[in-house]
Amino acid sequence: MSYKVAVIPGDGIGSEVTQEAVRALQQLSSRPGLSIDFEEYPYSCGYYLEHGVMMPDGALEALDESDAILLGAVGYPGVPDHVSLWGLLIPIRRTFRQYVNLRPVRLLRGLSSPLRDRGPEDIDFLIVRENNEGEYSEIGGRLYDGTDEAIAMQSTVFTQKGVERVLQFAFDQARRRPKQHVTSATKSNGIKHTMPFWDEAVAKFAEHYPDVTTDQYHIDILAAHFVAHPDWFDVVVGSNLFGDILSDLGPAVAGGIGVAPSANLNPTREKPSMFEPVHGSAPDIAGKGIANPIAALWSASMLLDHLGETTPAADLLNAIEAVSGEGKVVTPDLGGTATTRSLTNRVLAELKS
Ligand code: ATP
Ligand code: MG
Repeated sequence: MSYKVAVIPGDGIGSEVTQEAVRALQQLSSRPGLSIDFEEYPYSCGYYLEHGVMMPDGALEALDESDAILLGAVGYPGVPDHVSLWGLLIPIRRTFRQYVNLRPVRLLRGLSSPLRDRGPEDIDFLIVRENNEGEYSEIGGRLYDGTDEAIAMQSTVFTQKGVERVLQFAFDQARRRPKQHVTSATKSNGIKHTMPFWDEAVAKFAEHYPDVTTDQYHIDILAAHFVAHPDWFDVVVGSNLFGDILSDLGPAVAGGIGVAPSANLNPTREKPSMFEPVHGSAPDIAGKGIANPIAALWSASMLLDHLGETTPAADLLNAIEAVSGEGKVVTPDLGGTATTRSLTNRVLAELKS
């Protein structure tokens, strides 16, 4: 099949690692039966500093022409995070109904977890985060600012449709995995309206998926279990805020942020999905050529998988894991001296053989 992939390299190491992910996709694109065209877009905080907006008018329409979007990272010292979030990430996620944020938490062979004595057999689960609604709403406001009666209010929006579609995705994923288990993140003891609404929907799905076992934990103890019992988990589903928190904790137990991939999915495939490493633009190491490209390469593998190109997707991930397992070409974040380029070269050589 042939595809069009929109590439948004972004800022800092975002562009450094995206370049490598594109090289991997280009190499796979030379296989018979697979052809990928790339269209690059400069949307970033760098673009914002020049033009006053993260993306120009018409940007979303242009991205809509693609089959998938590959994003590096956006962020620049001095540009507040809410600019890149509300100026680029959230509009893309919402416009294209990327209502699932999927983050595999899996310890690759050869990598070590900060959890002592935990190996790849203990750390292998998926985090499914609701990505379009929930706690991250624009509804709210402030009153009497600057006085001692100041008030801030913020509304959470849970819709039946929004909750059900992300749960549907989580249960469908669980069904395809050996453990067939879903864990729901909740906090219905403290959050009196939206969380019981969420729990009721989970209970309904549990009934409709008798082959999938289900449990739920309050978000606070669930975070503790991620560290104490990572082996308990298979598919973990949570609201936008809870999923956000867990999906930074997950990569931390699975070998670090430099190797953590993510996908913003429109599971219907009616609109493009977006694939990006979990990490940001890392201004502290930008320009040095030493960023770990594994998160971006793995994200590219997820992109192929989502498009239905399961064989090249698996081949790319296997090549990454062959190189991590070998433990010879390692970037400085994981204690080695390899460069972004040399690690990718090793993966590409593996991918050929
Ligand atoms: P942003 O504002 O864009 O989110 P940040 O500095 O807040 O950037 P990250 O970019 O995620 O957050 O970086 C956090 C830390 O992890 C930094 O010290 C960074 O150097 C390191 N880091 C992140 N990604 C990588 C990577 N791919 N390879 C090596 N180190 C990384
Ligand atoms: Mg950051």
